[in-house]
Amino acid sequence: MRPFDEIRESDAAVAEILAEEQLRQQNTIELIASENHVSCAVLRAAGSIFTNKYAEGYPGRRYYGGCANMDTIEDLARERAKKLFKCEHVNVQPHSGSQANTAVYLGFLQPGDTILSLDLAHGGHLSHGMKINITGLLYNIVHYGVSKETETFDMAEIRRLAKEHKPKLIITGASAYPRTIDFAAFTEIAQEVGALHMADIAHIAGLVAAGLHPDPVPVAEFVTTTTHKTLRGPRGGMIMCKADYAKKIDSRVFPGIQGGPLMHVIAAKAVAFGEALKPSFKKYQQQIITNAKALCEGLQSAGIRTVSGGTDNHLMLVDLRPSHPNVTGKAAENWLEQANIITNKNMIPFDERKPVETSGLRLGTPAITTRGMKEPEMKQIAAWISEILTSNGDADVIGRIRGGVLEMCQQFPLP
Ligand SMILES: *Cc1c(COP(=O)(O)O)cnc(C)c1O
Repeated sequence: MRPFDEIRESDAAVAEILAEEQLRQQNTIELIASENHVSCAVLRAAGSIFTNKYAEGYPGRRYYGGCANMDTIEDLARERAKKLFKCEHVNVQPHSGSQANTAVYLGFLQPGDTILSLDLAHGGHLSHGMKINITGLLYNIVHYGVSKETETFDMAEIRRLAKEHKPKLIITGASAYPRTIDFAAFTEIAQEVGALHMADIAHIAGLVAAGLHPDPVPVAEFVTTTTHKTLRGPRGGMIMCKADYAKKIDSRVFPGIQGGPLMHVIAAKAVAFGEALKPSFKKYQQQIITNAKALCEGLQSAGIRTVSGGTDNHLMLVDLRPSHPNVTGKAAENWLEQANIITNKNMIPFDERKPVETSGLRLGTPAITTRGMKEPEMKQIAAWISEILTSNGDADVIGRIRGGVLEMCQQFPLP
């Protein structure tokens, strides 16, 4: 059977697009740091008949009949999440990471309140205060950044900002920060100024679950995450909090900002949490870090600079300026894609170029590590990236490397 034949019978157009995408994923090296390849079990649960069911409310307190299986699956997802992150309470209903964050804001802030969060241009997320996001529209946003010298957080400067602006909420967590985040140090500052601390571990949730990154759960009032990045579950969000905040968090998710939960996605979350509780998951997360270091060292030995000089986690930020001053992130992303290497252009701290161009590229290893790639492949990928950049996007070079990429992809099938 060809892929998606069961859909093809009723809808050839959609089946064709799905088959194209399966082929694209099989034949590309996925370096987007926020993406991953889920297991067949996660995929199957997400595509299950649970999509048919309305289950507004929470287990035992639903607004619809016929929810017995919905209660069982949501309880299972919650139990597994609690075991995985050792948290007092969890809500697995947020449709996305941004929804998870919004529920926290709605529960514990008033419009006009001050939030202290990481600048987008320094690796923050749009749901942490971008001007035209709900956060930027409703709240008074003050940003911290990284220091120009070290390109890491300057805790003294963050403390100074907190004392000056007296935020009600301090947000930690990032979309493009390659170094370890000291969540406890942020909590100390929050306590000094009477602020709440929300740690958004969307990117590093898998590392945290595996014990390979400092854990914010014991020190932050709220921990939000996506389930689809390093955690390798279905597309979605989740909120962890102390028991004291449980009731309010639940009521702000539903009915605060959402209607019926995506029960098929919650089923897939349960499967993913079950996978993350297995010893093999820790090995996977360790290999993500090992691969990121190997990829980073490969780029550096080719003369390419990375922001902050390396990585502690699953991602790195390439600074194109010193080695390739005429190459923008946009051009680099485009050339690499022609060679079936998928990345995203990214602002780097103190970038002189505009967000549509950028001087940086963000590279991450969660997806290729899922496929089983290890250090030798990282070395090869780093060499390919360097060669493409140095060739200025030469079509012959790109064509030859694309052949190599296709060969490598054949050796590492999707899950
Ligand atoms: C990815 C991400 C999110 C949310 O993502 P959604 O696309 O809304 O699921 C939130 N915070 C951070 C830091 C992220 O990287």
